[in-house]
Amino acid sequence: MSAEPVLAVEGLKKHFPVEKGVLRRVVAHVKAVDGVSFAIRPGETLCLVGESGCGKSTVGKLAMGLIPATAGTIRLHGTDITGLSRTQMQPWRKRIQMVFQDPSASLNPRLTAGAVVSEPLENFGDIPASERSDRTVALLKKVGLSSDAMHKYPFEFSGGQKQRLGIARALALNPSVIVADEPVSALDVSVQAQVLNLMMDLQEEFGLAYLFVSHDLGVVEHIGHRIAVMYLGRIVEVADRDAIFANPRHPYTRALISAAPLPDPRARREKLVIEGDVPSPQNPPPGCHFHTRCPFAVARCRVDSPALRTLKDGRLAACHLED
Ligand code: SF4
Repeated sequence: MSAEPVLAVEGLKKHFPVEKGVLRRVVAHVKAVDGVSFAIRPGETLCLVGESGCGKSTVGKLAMGLIPATAGTIRLHGTDITGLSRTQMQPWRKRIQMVFQDPSASLNPRLTAGAVVSEPLENFGDIPASERSDRTVALLKKVGLSSDAMHKYPFEFSGGQKQRLGIARALALNPSVIVADEPVSALDVSVQAQVLNLMMDLQEEFGLAYLFVSHDLGVVEHIGHRIAVMYLGRIVEVADRDAIFANPRHPYTRALISAAPLPDPRARREKLVIEGDVPSPQNPPPGCHFHTRCPFAVARCRVDSPALRTLKDGRLAACHLED
């Protein structure tokens, strides 16, 4: 892998204002993303995991430039693309593309599959019109669909085939990074592995970097090279996949992994049960955000926010008790 990241974010924040009254006075902020940093290299999959509402999907939207950041920087191939206008973002659109969660909702039902896949080529590509059809057929084949698919409409495809179409559309402009937001969670379990394997094959062929957002640890274990665990808008642990599944260090990661089903129903894992609900990101607890649910919390955790720092084994974790 090249040492240079294709996508790097630093101190990324997204605080949504909460408005009240007819004057729409801002009375608070929802800190959906609160200081997230990571870098992804070519051919690498970084998975962002965490419970619903932890901010992982918002990070994906920020990286894509779909919503503006409150603070922090986003670099694509070393260039700061934070806050670029739609027009300024146009040249970068080719480099970063997205695969959405719900393939049915993300495909225009009035367009044929051929039109869906060739749309980015018309809008952003520099491929002559005469070559677009051949390129579209090649893209469909690349994702395992036949050339007959060109003339079919989205409703004629299964869920897995629709997601293949979504992947073909994302590939059309030869991106270097794909942000995939829960791309298999709407699919039958039997189809999920096929789509994940397709994404892994395409990654190997094109050197793609994936920012893969998922709540499903089984999926993440299948596709991830590194895993970043999020809790209440912050990353609490980052490690290689094997290290994090074999030996999770942050108490929240340990609880998440201990709750995930094992492929072998006879196998047992040490259980770490956490009580209570995720606190509101509008009013997160002081100190360590996790202290209200952490079974190991000490007095310091209630006042002192642990930084995400490198532990002795090389991973990153944000916990006062780990070194
Ligand atoms: Fe638990 Fe304290 Fe570590 Fe936070 S810093 S995870 S509360 S032990």
